[in-house]
Amino acid sequence: MTTQTQTITIHYLLSDAGRREALKRGLPAQAMQQVVVDPPPAVESQVWDRAVELSDVSSDGKASVVIGHKRGMNSDHRCWSTYAVSCVVPARYPTQAEDGPEIVESREKQFDAPQDAAALLAWEARRRVDVERVLTLREASQKARESKEKADREARDRASAQEWASLPLEWRAKADGVATCVPWSNDEKAPRYEGPLQTSGSTLYNREVLERYVPGALAEARAEVKRLQGEEERKRNEAEARRMAERGTWIRQYGSPRLQRCLEEGIEVGAAYRDERLALERPGWRWEEKVYGAKSEPRNPPAEAFQLLDEARATDPDAKLYHWAVEHDREECQKDSGEPCDCPKYVWTGYVAMSSFLGKAVIFGGPEIEVED
Ligand SMILES: [Zn+2]
Repeated sequence: MTTQTQTITIHYLLSDAGRREALKRGLPAQAMQQVVVDPPPAVESQVWDRAVELSDVSSDGKASVVIGHKRGMNSDHRCWSTYAVSCVVPARYPTQAEDGPEIVESREKQFDAPQDAAALLAWEARRRVDVERVLTLREASQKARESKEKADREARDRASAQEWASLPLEWRAKADGVATCVPWSNDEKAPRYEGPLQTSGSTLYNREVLERYVPGALAEARAEVKRLQGEEERKRNEAEARRMAERGTWIRQYGSPRLQRCLEEGIEVGAAYRDERLALERPGWRWEEKVYGAKSEPRNPPAEAFQLLDEARATDPDAKLYHWAVEHDREECQKDSGEPCDCPKYVWTGYVAMSSFLGKAVIFGGPEIEVED
């Protein structure tokens, strides 16, 4: 027959009042109290069983119950000795899960009178049930909140997708793609943008959300994009065909023998054609890209400038007046002469007339210096 010698030590704290009460009763009055529970038959087996159930057993075999022990906390007696025991005591339960259950956590539970083992173990058992209950409620409330947030987000996404799908097709599809953006705006108070959407800017409708909730409307927009792209390409091809036909007609009628021969042989004649046609139809005009310098808006032009403009308008009524300047290339000059350059800043300044011909900028007047091919 074996005799059980193992005991379980219950640790608990006494408050000021509790310590005075202990004094009154002639009991040890320290704040840190210990009650040693001996195995039956020294105590009722019910008390022993409860002590076992609530106990933590350290690696060296010491069994203890810390009253007000925080869940999951290691029952290290050193913690206890430094009063670092946290006590979780649910103070009140929420009536609605939404309110969020409340747990009052205090550093420690202090008793106002010395306790016996049965009372301490009953208190601790009830506390642990309470804590479990609150944690369960807290978890449920967390889950409920998360699922509500998810539902709200889905509802918002769905509404946003449906709003997009309800817009006119031509607002949702452009030749450069499916449109889900609105123009950038820093104005917070601006009324919500309404009108054709854009393919870049501030994203108003999330593409993934559209894919999820209105895949049909998105597919419809994508098909429209394709159609618009086809349309643009067709127009481009038609315009190009018209230009080529016009070029052929012109060359056959006015082109030089060389240009006509090129055309017959199917040799590319774009540049030569443009040059010949410019010379014939806009005498005195040159391609802007062939003339050194840069234009700027005219300011206070002299009378001669208007003479030039009138002359230009004789061949091109759309001609407009600009100031033109060619800067002296200081760097090049210093490199060539090896000396610091003190030449005037401009090689040429004056007025020119400008217009466009065959889709390219043309200039009337200006410096004689031409860009080499
Ligand atoms: Zn110079």
